[in-house]
Amino acid sequence: MHDSLLRDVAFWQFLLDIDRDFAKRAREDGCACGGHLHAGNYFRNPRGGPDGLPKECCVRLSLCCDREGCRKRLTPPSVRFLGPKVYLLPVIFLAAAMRQGPSPRAMRELCTLFVADRRTIARWQVLWQEHFPQTRFWKSEQARLPRPNEPTLLPRALVVAFFTSPNPRGDWERLLRFLSPITLAGGMAVAIPR
Ligand SMILES: [Zn+2]
Repeated sequence: MHDSLLRDVAFWQFLLDIDRDFAKRAREDGCACGGHLHAGNYFRNPRGGPDGLPKECCVRLSLCCDREGCRKRLTPPSVRFLGPKVYLLPVIFLAAAMRQGPSPRAMRELCTLFVADRRTIARWQVLWQEHFPQTRFWKSEQARLPRPNEPTLLPRALVVAFFTSPNPRGDWERLLRFLSPITLAGGMAVAIPR
């Protein structure tokens, strides 16, 4: 289920280009103080991707304000990194989704596929099934998605909504762009019940 692309270095370069575009747009907007933003990227050591992932694909793109007295860091959204999580966002998503549906994959198989232990994958399931539905992001954005024919649990509901074309790369792009606001600081914040 859509996992072969995640083994492909070219896919991660494709995602890097999307992140570069996010960073470019944030840079053009500049800092709220009026200062210019310059690159303040930092190196990560992400897990779950293919062997031989180029160094450039391990960099979290980030920006810093150049104005004295501000120097604020601005980290644009990403289609690759979810906050400080060590594993890559598409991996965190897909491993949890593959545990669901009519033919869920065995935990042992996913541990091998994504080089993660059971407890880590179990935490990702909790993240998507319990935490994510409570976020402000999901509460406001779920209305943008087509209504499913039958109720489907998260995160599989997003697979059903986005993986609709014969082009999995394009489907991944649409899904990850949709999710990208959750990668911002506070993006996974839970909605306050009224
Ligand atoms: Zn500034």
